Amino acid sequence: MTSSTKLLAGIELGGTKCVCVLGTGPSDIRAQERLPTRDPETTLAAIEAVLSRWASVHGRFEALGISSFGPLDLNPRSATYGFIAATTKPGWSNTRIAGRFAEHFGVPVGLDTDVNGAALGEGCWGAAQGLDDFAYVTVGTGVGVGLIVDGKPIFGCSHTEMGHIRIARLPGDTWPGHCSFHGDCVEGLASGPAIQARVGASSDSLPDDHPVWTAVVHAVAQLLHSMVVSTAPVRIIVGGGVLISREALFGRIRTELAKSLNGYLKAGVLEGDLSTYVVPPSLGGLSGALGALVLAERELTESHGRKRYHSTGVTGVVDDE
Ligand code: ZN
Repeated sequence: MTSSTKLLAGIELGGTKCVCVLGTGPSDIRAQERLPTRDPETTLAAIEAVLSRWASVHGRFEALGISSFGPLDLNPRSATYGFIAATTKPGWSNTRIAGRFAEHFGVPVGLDTDVNGAALGEGCWGAAQGLDDFAYVTVGTGVGVGLIVDGKPIFGCSHTEMGHIRIARLPGDTWPGHCSFHGDCVEGLASGPAIQARVGASSDSLPDDHPVWTAVVHAVAQLLHSMVVSTAPVRIIVGGGVLISREALFGRIRTELAKSLNGYLKAGVLEGDLSTYVVPPSLGGLSGALGALVLAERELTESHGRKRYHSTGVTGVVDDE
């Protein structure tokens, strides 16, 4: 992964706020602005106004990247490629995102999930710099995983959603969970809303020794176990509002992960206390927006000849068209 010398724009489209940046990387941010996420038209028009203003002040940007909440249609053969698909977020189902910005600004637009964007940002400039196989996990309003294999987010018939895997439950814990699709998947056990539903208080207000953290730590460690044995990432970055600044819980997650793996996988990075294996992000709140700059850069420079799931159900290579 390389940083750019071209002027790029990046948007992190989040469930409650959007972060827009203009620049070439974290050491060269020319402009930055946060906007509340309202209904689609209001929000997207406000972003367009910000970017247009920046273009008139700083010059035209060459490409735009978007890290967005989802689910997203990322199949380039789909009629609704670049749309937000059916979502529980009111008003946002079937919203055209990538095509709208491409038309408005006349530049290439790269789009990926918020966690994949954050992963790419951390890979380019942050806690996974120089690595091709790593993961970014967010534990916040939801639980999401950006799993990077050989330098790219993995993609099959859709983007992946590892936050919704089912796990071995903590012995004795029978709370049914909070995911409206799966109950006690990882998101249903460890997300902010799940914690709120379980204890009747915001996770922010809970001390590190509150009993609920035992279940949350267990669920997150189980998720990491599945990731380790699936694609063997070289490092796992854990971000998101629920665990931010909770160093004591990071220690417990590492201990639980080591206990769960039980020495099965042999690799140098998995030895010791895992303090350099499970780490917090290093780009602060800008992982996603800076990752959007990486998506913009990739849209300019990389071949799109990558494996895609076709509507026929046959996986093949999509040529540049
Ligand atoms: Zn779920």
